[in-house]
Amino acid sequence: MPVLTNIGVLATCRADGGQGNLHAIPDAAVAWEGPTVAWTGPSTELPERFRSDRTVDAGGRLVVPGLVDCHTHLAFAGWRADEFARRLQGATYQEIARAGGGIMSTVRATRAATFEQLVARCEAHLREMAALGVTTVEAKSGYGLDVDTEVRILEVYRALEERQPVTVVPTYLGAHVVPPEFQQRRGEYVESMCTRVIPEVARRGLARFCDAFLEDTAFGAAEALQYFAAGAHHGLRPKLHADQLTDGHGANLAADVGAMSADHLERVSDRGIQRLAEAGVVAVSLPIATLYLQQPPMPARRLIEAGVPVAVATDFNPGTAPSCHLPFAMTLACTLQRMTPAEVLKGATIVAARAIGEEREAGSIEVGKQADLALIDAADVNEWLYHLRANACLGTWKRGVRIAP
Ligand SMILES: [Zn+2]
Repeated sequence: MPVLTNIGVLATCRADGGQGNLHAIPDAAVAWEGPTVAWTGPSTELPERFRSDRTVDAGGRLVVPGLVDCHTHLAFAGWRADEFARRLQGATYQEIARAGGGIMSTVRATRAATFEQLVARCEAHLREMAALGVTTVEAKSGYGLDVDTEVRILEVYRALEERQPVTVVPTYLGAHVVPPEFQQRRGEYVESMCTRVIPEVARRGLARFCDAFLEDTAFGAAEALQYFAAGAHHGLRPKLHADQLTDGHGANLAADVGAMSADHLERVSDRGIQRLAEAGVVAVSLPIATLYLQQPPMPARRLIEAGVPVAVATDFNPGTAPSCHLPFAMTLACTLQRMTPAEVLKGATIVAARAIGEEREAGSIEVGKQADLALIDAADVNEWLYHLRANACLGTWKRGVRIAP
């Protein structure tokens, strides 16, 4: 039976006890049987039956749960480096979107890409993420917008589940932006998502959640409500891109519809924070996007103090967060959002797992859960997130199998 021993700090990240409580075990070991954690505790108490020749010595380092990136736009074609340069010269995200750039330029490239091209790109990204310690990734559609391409992207995610080891949790994001062919007929676009795409996606089991981008360049509250009602009717739970560029009362809407998560929230109001707390909605922070858009950060301290769990994710996408480096996002959550490294680690493990309904399988190191583990070249979480490096992960295990390096 495989065992990791001589762990300096085992951050188990059990859910209870508040965002900053890692339930860490010093001088620890963890043993697993097949895909499942069988034992955790102090090394000196490791039962004889778990002592085996398949032991990995952690060298007194940190071991954490396999990281969970709970918000990515994984499948897309092309990049948008030109826009990056234009934004640096003063163009705003909204201006670029209105001129037909932004999300729409990625939609054009993605519609032109083949299924196999998209799979190959996603596999490369997932390998990069696994090497960083990531073992579960939420992946949104939303760069197709027409029925065929949206379904193709979600089929890419299904194929990835079979072709590589990282868990991919699919989300339908039809309500990302109104495509140009519907620009003068927004209502018809919303109607087509509700009556054609959502039923098809749900019938084929291609997504677990439906997500909408609530913003003045994207969708309004009434449109989002209609979309979420159709999703709920077909068993897709809501998630929401909310209060990113403006306070559009997105947090209130997320609370009203019982969303799994409200994501971004850089501009969330005090009232919105209160509503999220009451409704038990997870707030997902996306500090790479905050950095690239040079925005004020999500008020994570106020959210945590109000009792809202705060997840940390990359928002990996070609426009506003062109990096799938979750540990980089975690360090930014400390420096921009003033979260402690311990709060951030729970935010990228058990809280993130809750944001995508995976908390029974992933996000913490507990007997009976998946043996998803990352061995980190640091003495503890403070040292890890303080000392920003290309990659501090020395080994990643998914369901008990070493997948990197
Ligand atoms: Zn996003």
